[in-house]
Amino acid sequence: MRILKTAAELKAFRRELPGEVGFVPTMGALHAAHASLLRRARNENDHVILSIFVNPTQFNNPDDLKNYPKTWDSDLAIAHAEGVDAIFAPTDPNEMYPDGYRYGIVEKEFSKELCGEFRPGHFDGMLTVVMKLLNLVWAERAYFGEKDYQQLSLIRGMVDAFFFHTEIVACPTLREKDGLAMSSRNLRLTADEREKAPYLHRALTTIADASKVRTALEENGFKVEYVVDREGRRFAAAWLGNVRLIDNVEKEARK
Ligand code: AMP
Repeated sequence: MRILKTAAELKAFRRELPGEVGFVPTMGALHAAHASLLRRARNENDHVILSIFVNPTQFNNPDDLKNYPKTWDSDLAIAHAEGVDAIFAPTDPNEMYPDGYRYGIVEKEFSKELCGEFRPGHFDGMLTVVMKLLNLVWAERAYFGEKDYQQLSLIRGMVDAFFFHTEIVACPTLREKDGLAMSSRNLRLTADEREKAPYLHRALTTIADASKVRTALEENGFKVEYVVDREGRRFAAAWLGNVRLIDNVEKEARK
């Protein structure tokens, strides 16, 4: 397994690869859901490239960036076990921004809603780095989780708008046994918060009315940003202590 640190190394590595490439972009602190994306990429392509890059331009909150979990040794072990060919992990954030972020992707509608309303600039930063990564990796397929459904939908929109070569593959949300969507940020929950956290998914799937979901979450110690029903899905973001949790479910999953 190769570890690539610069854009130039990644481009050179990619040029020499025969066959089809599956790409899984992440911010590290890998868990079973990331492993499931890697496994799918492995099954559907000749080669798998994983990126681990905590992208500063998508963090609107400096503390969130500073506290983002880093688990390099365990990330390496997971990548190795899933048969990854190369990890692109730039050590210097400037590696992805030789222009100092003068140039970027702008989406003018959906990126302002839901999470975008509470995280200004987040989706433009995310789209910009995904675009750069797609250009560098030039994969046949790139794999994204439905857990970040708004992100997935905006990436699909960008890929269509700019005629990207890469096919975007959506992967279902993986959950802990108690229903909590797996997330790197779950590592930052206290024991008490971890116990409360699965209620987010339970409330989304068992309460019919979105405004009642909000009240129920607030009564259970969550600080709610939004609960919104939109195009057959229900989306929510809420804080437990210092940790922001997001989730979404399909209408059919609701009782
Ligand atoms: P991140 O956790 O932000 O590094 O996300 C890297 C990729 O993994 C994104 O495409 C996420 O949507 C995906 N992902 C993260 N958590 C989950 C999950 N619980 N289920 C499915 N995909 C996930």
